[in-house]
Amino acid sequence: MAIPTKILLEIVTPDRALIREEVDEIQLPGSEGYLGVLPGHTPLLTTLMVGELWYRVGAEKHFLSIAGGFVEVLPDRVTVLADLAERAQDIDIARAEAAKRRAEERLAKPSSDLDFERARIAMMKSLIRLQVASRARTRV
Ligand code: ATP
Repeated sequence: MAIPTKILLEIVTPDRALIREEVDEIQLPGSEGYLGVLPGHTPLLTTLMVGELWYRVGAEKHFLSIAGGFVEVLPDRVTVLADLAERAQDIDIARAEAAKRRAEERLAKPSSDLDFERARIAMMKSLIRLQVASRARTRV
């Protein structure tokens, strides 16, 4: 069987279909660490953590923030079922900064383990959103 030269990338959340595009390369925030995917990758299924996802089409990289979910990798197709996902250009920076400040205050004086864990996740999501928002579409 011929080795595929492109990957059909689909990114969906429970609310909406965000991306359906033929791409050349993807990096995903897998729960075991960041995962690079090129056409012809070995099939795998894994969970996602809070992190940055990028995909490359030709010389252009596109960035999204992701918070949890699953990904199925096949040699010519990658399907991301994300709990939350935002494209870099759709991120509201002021909102992410406000969420970061709230999380910092809660982490400074947690009243229970649950508060601490929720604040830790809110902090990670806000930091990733700010990181992703700062990356305009870049040429590689
Ligand atoms: P906030 O505390 O600012 O409401 P949150 O972390 O509680 O943020 P989430 O539960 O992570 O919010 O997300 C709720 C919805 O809002 C999702 O659809 C998510 O994509 C969107 N969202 C959250 N923060 C941002 C942001 N800074 N820019 C764009 N969309 C965002």
